[in-house]
Amino acid sequence: MKSKMSEKYASAVVLGQDISSLSFPPRRMPVADAVRQYMRVPMGAGNSLPWEPNLTPYIVEPMNCLAKREFDAVVFVGPARTGKTLGLIDGWIIYSIVCYPAGLLVVQMTQEKAQEHSKKRLARTFRASPEAARRLSPQRNDNNVHDKIFRDGSVLKIGWPSISIFSSSDYKRVALTDYDRFPADIDGEGDAFSLASKRTTTFMSAGMTLVESSPGREITDVKWHQEFPHQAPPTTGILSLYNRGDRRRWYWPCPHCGEYFKPAMGTVTGYRDITDPVQASEAAHLCCPHCQGRIDATQKRELNNRGVWLIEGQQIDRHGNRSGIPRRSRIASFWMEGPAAAYQTWAQLVCKLLTAEQEYARTGSEETLKAVINTDWGLPYLPRRSEVQRQGEVLMARAEPPGQTRGAGGSTFSGGDRGCAGWPSEPLCGAGHGIRCAGGTLGDRPLLAPSCAPR
Ligand SMILES: [Zn+2]
Repeated sequence: MKSKMSEKYASAVVLGQDISSLSFPPRRMPVADAVRQYMRVPMGAGNSLPWEPNLTPYIVEPMNCLAKREFDAVVFVGPARTGKTLGLIDGWIIYSIVCYPAGLLVVQMTQEKAQEHSKKRLARTFRASPEAARRLSPQRNDNNVHDKIFRDGSVLKIGWPSISIFSSSDYKRVALTDYDRFPADIDGEGDAFSLASKRTTTFMSAGMTLVESSPGREITDVKWHQEFPHQAPPTTGILSLYNRGDRRRWYWPCPHCGEYFKPAMGTVTGYRDITDPVQASEAAHLCCPHCQGRIDATQKRELNNRGVWLIEGQQIDRHGNRSGIPRRSRIASFWMEGPAAAYQTWAQLVCKLLTAEQEYARTGSEETLKAVINTDWGLPYLPRRSEVQRQGEVLMARAEPPGQTRGAGGSTFSGGDRGCAGWPSEPLCGAGHGIRCAGGTLGDRPLLAPSCAPR
């Protein structure tokens, strides 16, 4: 495989004269700025638009971390419809071709997905983005579904999780997409992140591994109590990588009181008392955990554009002043939830949740519910059997005097966020948003926050 690769490099050397005609933008250009300038997003019928960072502002900081030498890896955990594939994967590919050429391996969850990504998305993106298109090698042999060679000799491989792919060559950059749908162990050689990191270590601090996915692995310890406000529940897969990193969460400033909060499942309210899922989902809104002010779906884009990532240990006041000591790690890790996702409405989120809950009640099958919690809400799933056990423990803990079972900052998971009306979130899903928020009650209290106090 390696000798085959060298031949390809050799063919690129012959193309040497072509490189001089290519101009390279300044290397210090932040990744997101470069993507905005050089990537056009195909819109069908031959039309395309420039990639627009204001549509998915939360993706800018993760993208820019990809070119920072202080990090070995960027980990992004988020639900579907956040624009993460477009910004992080396609964007990084374009950046790698146009701005700072180097070998890039993109690993999709299956060979079919890899083919689809290459043939459908990338082929169109390259056609629509002139700076990328003119860098493609004109030799037909250099451009097939899984391997693309560029005029400067750099290689883009689009592969799938198998040991032959991971050991084919050394790449300065490796991107693992839909990570929690990968096998936990690749052909008996270990997890994909470790294998990918081995490929990039040759390049020392210039190497970079990107991992993105919605959570897909179950919570492994139902007795888990959160020690730090941004800590994710114990799972294998991407959330364990997130926990190893510096743990950034996405915050919005409340339009009423200015205090920052996480747009998380626990802040979505107003739909529990309505039986019809469609009507209920239309009534869904957010409730500021600080002032109980009502936030409507029409405000989402504006709040995303005023949003900030806070690292574990950082705080922010209502004037935007940061304090605290940020956690340090060689992994920049990010986790955002469904309510902030640009391309999914709150009504869709709630409707899918209620429909899945009804299906569970009717059939006893958790599959749809798990998929909705994972891929739409961006949360890990706690199986119902574990939850029954957990509920018993929560009730027992409550029977003890306050303060004895929960240390300072202990199991109040959402980092100072309180449920509406000052109720603490119930620690049932581990992430603090009540997987069991499924309309049940705990004792005499509903598991999700009640409707907001009128303002
Ligand atoms: Zn507020």
